[in-house]
Amino acid sequence: MKLFTITQQDWNRFLQTISEFVSVVAVEDHAHPFKEKLYPPHDTLFFYRKDTPKEKASIQEKKTLYYGIKPCDAKTGKLLALNFLSDPHPDPYFKAMTENTIVISTACDHFDPYCFCDQIGDSPSALNGADGILYTITSGYHLLVNHTWLSQQLQQFGLTPTEVENEKSPFDKGNVAYREIEPLPIQVLREKGLSTILNTALWEKVTATCLACGVCTFLCPACYCFDIQDLSYGRVGKRERTYDSCMFTLYTSEASGHNPRPSIKERWRQRLLHKFTYYPMQYNEIGCTGCGRCSRECPSKIDIREVIRDAAQSCE
Ligand code: SF4
Ligand code: SF4
Repeated sequence: MKLFTITQQDWNRFLQTISEFVSVVAVEDHAHPFKEKLYPPHDTLFFYRKDTPKEKASIQEKKTLYYGIKPCDAKTGKLLALNFLSDPHPDPYFKAMTENTIVISTACDHFDPYCFCDQIGDSPSALNGADGILYTITSGYHLLVNHTWLSQQLQQFGLTPTEVENEKSPFDKGNVAYREIEPLPIQVLREKGLSTILNTALWEKVTATCLACGVCTFLCPACYCFDIQDLSYGRVGKRERTYDSCMFTLYTSEASGHNPRPSIKERWRQRLLHKFTYYPMQYNEIGCTGCGRCSRECPSKIDIREVIRDAAQSCE
């Protein structure tokens, strides 16, 4: 990895220089997850006409550099890739989007009341699969880069890097958020989460105030469920992909009318165990970045940290 030191003024000049041949986008809205840039909530996959070949899919081909992303949100690329880029059917839309995207995060200097990346083994200064991370120092930034093209551009701009092994190497990271706090018992769920499946009392307690609105899944950087619809208008039509949510009744409704997850209890259980039990079983990663968005924006103020603790405590 390469470490650059850059002043605020040169950073702005660098962005201006490369904006002549790539799109440069500052990410300032942290209420919405960065996943919306890589995997849009609503995407037209292609158009079609009767009796003519399918039209070309709308795949992003221009390189885009995003900066200002929080490290927990930068992890979205890594987590969604486990699903979208796994064999045997890697998703061409997600692939094209990630191949043409450069992600530069900024290390966080504080925790808000809902953040918990540090309680699940992550850190507010971790690279987390981003192509670069900015650390704010007195003279500007330290920029750690793990991307060949980006590193070349910075050197062509006139900066000289030093080699560092990884983000844990000793260099000035400025004022990075840190606190002493108890970790969440995610290892218990990883190993024994399945033992909660028949615990009706636990899921009744967890879901007593849930509205099944789906906000928690739509805003989650690790959730990726979608629905596909063909919209036909006479001889023409289009295929659309939109976010779906395991918190909705229809998500698991079968054509026969049977629904294997008939109430919010089964749906919340699925959501939690997918993240902390099934995802690790399948990919050896938890499906959560600790961003806290699901709890922050939940209209019923259900805090996933409390659910994790309750579920882990109830494990046999
Ligand atoms: S955001 Fe809250 S109320 Fe809405 S589905 Fe999620 S947990 Fe339930
Ligand atoms: S489950 Fe909640 S805290 Fe974890 S990544 Fe999703 S929105 Fe963030």
